[in-house]
Amino acid sequence: MHTPIEYLKGVGAERGNALRMEAGIDKMWDLLNYFPFRYVDRSRYIKIVELPAYEGQSVQLKGVITGLHEIGTGRSKRLQARFQDSSGTLDLVWFKGIKWIKDKIKPGVLFRVYGKPTQFNSSWNIAHPEITPFASVEHEKGLQAVYNSTDKLTKKGLHSKGIEKLTLQLVSIIHGKIPEILPKSIIHQYNLLSREEAYQRIHAPRHFQDVEKAQIRIKFEELLLLQLELLLRKNINIQKTSGYIFEKTGSFFDDFYSHHIPFELTNAQKRVTKEIRKDLRSGHQMNRLLQGDVGSGKTLVALLSMLFGVGNDFQSALMAPTEILAQQHFKTIEKLLAPLNVRVALLTGSTKKSERETLFHDLAEGKVHILIGTHALLEPKVQFKNLGLVVIDEQHRFGVAQRAKLWRKNKKPPHILVMTATPIPRTLAMTFYGDLDVSVIDELPPGRKPITTLHFFEQSRLKVFELMKKEIALGRQVYIVYPLIQESETMDYKNLLEGYEAISRSFPRPDYQISIVHGQMKPEDKAFEMDQFAKENTHIMVATTVIEVGVNVPNASLMIIESAERFGLSQLHQLRGRVGRGADKSYCILMTGEKLSQEGKRRMQTMVSTNDGFKIAEVDLEIRGPGDIMGTQQSGIMNLKLTNLARDGQLVSAARQSAKDLMTKDPLLNQVENQLLKIALKSYLKSKPNWSKIS
Ligand code: ADP
Ligand code: MG
Repeated sequence: MHTPIEYLKGVGAERGNALRMEAGIDKMWDLLNYFPFRYVDRSRYIKIVELPAYEGQSVQLKGVITGLHEIGTGRSKRLQARFQDSSGTLDLVWFKGIKWIKDKIKPGVLFRVYGKPTQFNSSWNIAHPEITPFASVEHEKGLQAVYNSTDKLTKKGLHSKGIEKLTLQLVSIIHGKIPEILPKSIIHQYNLLSREEAYQRIHAPRHFQDVEKAQIRIKFEELLLLQLELLLRKNINIQKTSGYIFEKTGSFFDDFYSHHIPFELTNAQKRVTKEIRKDLRSGHQMNRLLQGDVGSGKTLVALLSMLFGVGNDFQSALMAPTEILAQQHFKTIEKLLAPLNVRVALLTGSTKKSERETLFHDLAEGKVHILIGTHALLEPKVQFKNLGLVVIDEQHRFGVAQRAKLWRKNKKPPHILVMTATPIPRTLAMTFYGDLDVSVIDELPPGRKPITTLHFFEQSRLKVFELMKKEIALGRQVYIVYPLIQESETMDYKNLLEGYEAISRSFPRPDYQISIVHGQMKPEDKAFEMDQFAKENTHIMVATTVIEVGVNVPNASLMIIESAERFGLSQLHQLRGRVGRGADKSYCILMTGEKLSQEGKRRMQTMVSTNDGFKIAEVDLEIRGPGDIMGTQQSGIMNLKLTNLARDGQLVSAARQSAKDLMTKDPLLNQVENQLLKIALKSYLKSKPNWSKIS
């Protein structure tokens, strides 16, 4: 299987090169792993009336030619044949090879026609179909595999069919050459096809059950290797990086917990805090992901964790993705900790130089216990006396590289707690953060009334204004959010400012006070406006997505999202989470244009139908795919060939469970039945660029 592809019968030097350049197929094994992306059922004939359901796909038809015309002259010359079955007619068209086709086609004879139908002026046609007299069709074949090809490959005769010929040729000679690598117990447990049979069936299936079983087997294998990799990373992490031991809960935690928390913790918050506590005293460095829906109270868990640090004479840091959020965290935490003798400081891009000097000095001396800030925390000048714990809020904005930077602030890496802004689907958490431990807050604080979400078109704006007036009359506050997308930034600012003016006209001073916050304002002006709104001095906050994450004004009960179709699902959910934080009934209004794409409609419907961030995350994964959600940086860790993380959740869980079982029973895979798996794992790890840096 490691033979260069040239040596496969029917390939040779020229095609071999093309396969290598165009499809990355170097060895025979690579061709075997060049999977069909679709299958056509060649035993099935479609009726012409059924064509609308098959647009864009290749279909097989059975019928007779009733007429034949040559149309046009010179370069625009084409041959057109009228083709008819019991349900209707369509045109077959040829621009090339006209003479040859003309000789072949005989009116009145039954033909099989195969090709991709397109609709033109409400009638159907197929350009350059495959056409075979029905009497001479070989009926032996069930499914035909369809492969991706390129122009260059097609020129070398390697269109889908050409590739199929090669893979079938390969499949006919692999018998005995694809040893099984999975232990028997796993094969039995999941009733998997053997490795050899899976590779045969995926290229040459007899029916769709073959395809399914073959795909399951191959997906399971790739997922198992990935999960073994992640567990190995995790184990190596644990073995290599001993962590600071936070021996006791400490007096700060105890005092705060018993006397100063303004509410009862939810059970989920308690459970998660315990999980973190256990990590912090384990002697190993913590690497934990804290998941929870918007408003589930992650900040408080972060604060409790940091108090464990303070109580054990360690400093803690909390890093937020935006200045506004850092300020907000700082205020909340400073207020909560006021009764305690804990010094909390804030560091952002706009911290004054003189303040910085003092801050850096006090940090190095250990006089600041908790430092809250933005990316500014990563600057080399920021030196701690003994940084014991770093909390990273709203993870998706930070890359893996930034996480690593924080580690280097100490001799020993501090404990790391990563908090997500909105939930990530379970399958993604298992694959992208499979090297982290995961805690989930699956419960919202009591007394939250669900947010009612409505979708309105522009024409209903007056109704929206009425609702705003009603809420404001009740003493509540309103957010109006405008999109700000880099590519159309100038237009977006224009829309925002125009919107602001329109609202100012409909909501005139002095009865109504309006704040505005956007990215082109100076940080101190932004902070001032935010503060006015937070203090309930203004009724309406007009803003861009700077308020997307974390901002907390419990009195706000109405969120209006302008051009909502331009936002992704998790962003919409995050924005909506800005309301429903007090005990009042809250609303979220999605304003969109009349014309919505299918996907846009799906997003609006999803938002209207559920408040559950975990459900929304699943839909988001289906719509966008894992790469878009996690960012390319992180999707580079994986290259799943066949698995679709949006649909193969069960397989991911099964593979993770099997990987865990294997590592528990046989951590070094030394048992006889795991030998071939071990070899496969080694070569798999070698093919991964990241691995060398980790191990
Ligand atoms: P998120 O998980 O989105 O970061 P926050 O930590 O900002 O959520 O918490 C949202 C709000 O819920 C805050 O106002 C916080 O004070 C409040 N809160 C947190 N935990 C509880 C609780 N156990 N009971 C009542 N309110 C809580
Ligand atoms: Mg938060």
